[in-house]
Amino acid sequence: MHRIKSVSAYEILDSRGNPTVRARVELDNGVSGVASVPSGASTGIHEALELRDNDPKRFNGKGVVKAVRNVNRKIAPLLRGYDVRDQRSIDSAMIGLDGTENKSRLGANSILGVSLACAHAAASSTKKPLYRYLRSHTKLGTKTPYRLPYPTMNILNGGKHADSGLSIQEFMIIPQRPSLRERVRIGAEVFSALKRLLVKKNFSTLVGDEGGFAPRIGTNERALKLIMNAITTAGYLPGKDVLLGLDLAASEFYDSTTGLYSLEHDKKPISSDRMIEIIDDWKTRYPLYIIEDPLDQDDWAGWARITKKLRHKVKLVGDDLFVTNIKRLKAGIDKGVANAILIKLNQIGSVSETLDCISLAQKHSYTVIVSHRSGETGDTTIADLAVATNSDYIKTGSLSRSERVEKYNRLIEIEQEI
Ligand code: PGA
Ligand code: ZN
Repeated sequence: MHRIKSVSAYEILDSRGNPTVRARVELDNGVSGVASVPSGASTGIHEALELRDNDPKRFNGKGVVKAVRNVNRKIAPLLRGYDVRDQRSIDSAMIGLDGTENKSRLGANSILGVSLACAHAAASSTKKPLYRYLRSHTKLGTKTPYRLPYPTMNILNGGKHADSGLSIQEFMIIPQRPSLRERVRIGAEVFSALKRLLVKKNFSTLVGDEGGFAPRIGTNERALKLIMNAITTAGYLPGKDVLLGLDLAASEFYDSTTGLYSLEHDKKPISSDRMIEIIDDWKTRYPLYIIEDPLDQDDWAGWARITKKLRHKVKLVGDDLFVTNIKRLKAGIDKGVANAILIKLNQIGSVSETLDCISLAQKHSYTVIVSHRSGETGDTTIADLAVATNSDYIKTGSLSRSERVEKYNRLIEIEQEI
């Protein structure tokens, strides 16, 4: 019972049409589990390695045949016979076989695919919904009540995810209501109000990689104003019914040779201190509650300054800064950097390490935001992960495109259940 009989993988497509890994684990009792791995575009340099073929003849080098082969030939024989419920031993065995710091031998995509497929198989095999099964691997225990996360919805896309010309990658709304269902409804209504405003102003209503609009509206602040307008148009009060969030993904417009940031394309690059002043000023004029990656992934000194200045006013979220890596999070805790962390399974590459990172963050009162990647599939594991760990927020894109919306739909389903 519950023993792994076979492990396999194949190449599928993600929401951008790029190849990614889908893994499948079959048990001796006939139960199976399947999972698909997401993929980022504005990846942090400290993330675990996503193994790609670099064979220009297939998918412009982006094929994942090597990662698939690693699952079929190396991981499959390793895991045969394991009790699938022993997630930690399974993950440790794969990490041991890989033997590198950043999973560069087997690829984080191959390891994570199998790690997730095992969790799905174990949940089915023990007849539990995934969030309940994953909860049993956390320190929260079965007595802590479940809590649904607040979605942070990226309704306007910039940076590497769109051609809008905006340097800031994500403009997010965070609806405030006791029930998840209502949070999603308000998000969808504001999204639709934003569309009507864009049409009225003759801007494009095409969407970016995460399903948010990508109009060429010029400046970051104009984007903020437009969203405020959309919230009011939809009949809600900004700052009360709906809060705002930004993911600057600042590593993307940071120049490490000069130490300067190109926040607005038509203006001169600026220092971290100037970045901090601008963000502080925006915070006084807009209901901003979440600011992700306001500074570069290795600008620890700048991060320490912004944390000191703004930690009581906003959630300062480390994404490229922490890359779901316990070592980097520990460094952040020691240096007094950030007060929130973004959690992405494929940044670290296994379920166990992801759960460890969440639990370390929670122990030190860091706010936890479970997140998708800009390249996604129909896989909705992150919704279950957010519920299992009582994460404060979930970041899973806009209110369009099914690879985004399916995560909201899964949360709605879980809310019905618990
Ligand atoms: P990515 O973007 O998935 O392209 O890395 C998401 C983020 O930066 O939060
Ligand atoms: Zn980010």
